Formats: sequence, C-alpha cells, structure tokens
Amino acid sequence: MICDEAVSALDVSVKAQIVNLLQDLQAELGLALLFISHDLGIVEHMTHRVAVMYLGRIVEQGTACNLFAAPRHPYTQALLSAAPGQAKGHRRIVLKGDVPSPVNPPAGCHFHTRCRHAFDRCRSEAPVLEDKGGGHQAACHLQNLPD
Ligand code: SF4
Repeated sequence: MICDEAVSALDVSVKAQIVNLLQDLQAELGLALLFISHDLGIVEHMTHRVAVMYLGRIVEQGTACNLFAAPRHPYTQALLSAAPGQAKGHRRIVLKGDVPSPVNPPAGCHFHTRCRHAFDRCRSEAPVLEDKGGGHQAACHLQNLPD
C-alpha cells in the first residue's frame, strides 16, 4: 500500500488513529507499506527501512534504527538536525541557499550547492549509492563525514 503524506495536515488525535489503523492493517494482512512523508517523527515510528531523497535522487537508505541514530549523508544529517524531536545530541546544521529547481538540477552531486563539505569532484561527478557501514548506503564522495 502506498501512503503518500497520509497523515500530513491532520490533528494529533486523528493522526494517531490513522497510524494505529495502518499498523493494524500491516500486522493483520501482512501488507508492505510504502510510507512517503516529510514528518520524520512519523517516519521513524512507522518504518523499518528508510530512503532519503533530495531533488529526485535517493541520497541515503538504511534501517530506520541506524539511519536515525547515525545518518551518513550530509543532507540527512541536516534534515535530522532541524526536525523537532530528532536532534538527539546532533548539533543544528543550517543549510545555506534554496533548493535548486528539479527541472534544472545542478551537475554532479545535486546537493553540492548547499553542502558544507562540497569539493571539486562533487561539482562534476554524481555520487552513487555505496555501502557506508552500519547497514547504510549513501550517495556521497566522502567515505567518512568530518564533524
Ligand atoms: S558528494 Fe560532495 S556535495 Fe554531495 S553530499 Fe557528498 S560531500 Fe556533499
């Protein structure tokens, strides 16, 4: 079942009812849910595996448990640092600039115009998803992210 922003714009009590209903359906019918959301709290609560997208590309994927505890892509790190209740000791990362147009995305790594770790290779070569350890795959030229 595809749930595209299924609980966005709902008040808290209705949101909780829908979440419980989806979890009951999943358990009773053995359904796989593809849960698409900007609400990271709900994503962490609802999902087993998570894929993070930026400008139409998956930039990181892994188990929800590992991804929320130790994000391996600079965009995921910034996303989690800005989400209410998700910081968990990670310091706030403020991204500069606006999201580029998806119609005309930047060359190379789509995230390079806003990434604080960008270097020359990022501007010309698109990174592919690679194993970064801990059950993660991330699309980043850096093997280890600096602090
Ligand atoms: S490939 Fe470069 S620009 Fe893209 S996320 Fe990694 S360091 Fe940042």
